[in-house]
Amino acid sequence: MKNADSDEALESVRIQYLGRKGELADLFQAIGTVPESERREIGRLLNATKTHLLESFEKASNALQNRADNVETVDLTLPGDRLPLGSLHPLTQVTREIKSCFQSMGFTVAQGPEIETEYYNFDALNIPRGHPARDMQDTLFISEADEIVLRTHTSPVQIHVMENQSPPVRVIAPGRVYRRDTPDASHSPVFHQIEGLAVDEGINFADLKGTILNFAQRMFGSDMQIRFRPSFFPFTEPSAEYDFSCVICRGKGCRVCQGTGWIEISGAGMVNPAVYQYVHYDAEKYTGFAFGMGVERIAMLMYEINDIRYFYENDIRFLRQF
Ligand SMILES: [Zn+2]
Repeated sequence: MKNADSDEALESVRIQYLGRKGELADLFQAIGTVPESERREIGRLLNATKTHLLESFEKASNALQNRADNVETVDLTLPGDRLPLGSLHPLTQVTREIKSCFQSMGFTVAQGPEIETEYYNFDALNIPRGHPARDMQDTLFISEADEIVLRTHTSPVQIHVMENQSPPVRVIAPGRVYRRDTPDASHSPVFHQIEGLAVDEGINFADLKGTILNFAQRMFGSDMQIRFRPSFFPFTEPSAEYDFSCVICRGKGCRVCQGTGWIEISGAGMVNPAVYQYVHYDAEKYTGFAFGMGVERIAMLMYEINDIRYFYENDIRFLRQF
């Protein structure tokens, strides 16, 4: 019975041995032909055999049933299972968009280390010893004794690029930066910046303005306006903060721009000739501009996100929207 591989085969085995006219029935019939003294013993053996055969049949039947339950039926005409696909993180998407925008203006992409010496992060950018930015309160030090920090901005990449390349230079440098900040809706101890640098003969402030305007209009639409406000950074002179017309109300004034019609983006300026001394560029011959921007800031404006922490929580309900 164990060898029966289908219900039909098993049934035919059952009939052969246990059927009304089966071999066992024949043996029971034959009891009458044996001497009376042995009948009782033979009857007992036949009954035991019958019980054993019935049990075997039951087992074999159950085994067949189980096997039938475990066989998967495959319908090749059914549509396949769709695996949930991930998507690019909104910060990756915005970074790529910003990169392609500047690449189309002739900028190449440069990269630098996230762990920097104070020399690249501060000194060579004309940020003097004793400047508040160099304080433990603001900067994350890997080793204060060895003057090794987590870069606080992408500006040190400017120095690396100029050390390795003669003008003309036109690069952007996207990357992670670190500040000693407590996370809240608009601060994170790790965030992303994109640095821009152009150095050549005859570059002036109008080139900077044109580059930023072109960028603003490509990212947010051709009706975008920009404005510059005087500011100060040690590595640019003159320095400016630049604003975009509010991407929400398009300059009419709303809650996001606090009624001004303008949104602060970041800082920019003409490269301070003091910086050229560190990279051995001829400050009499070359001029250039530099600018920075926060990727989170651009992404928050683009997607109207009001809390920077959404970018880092990896909540699938947030990420699915991009
Ligand atoms: Zn507005």
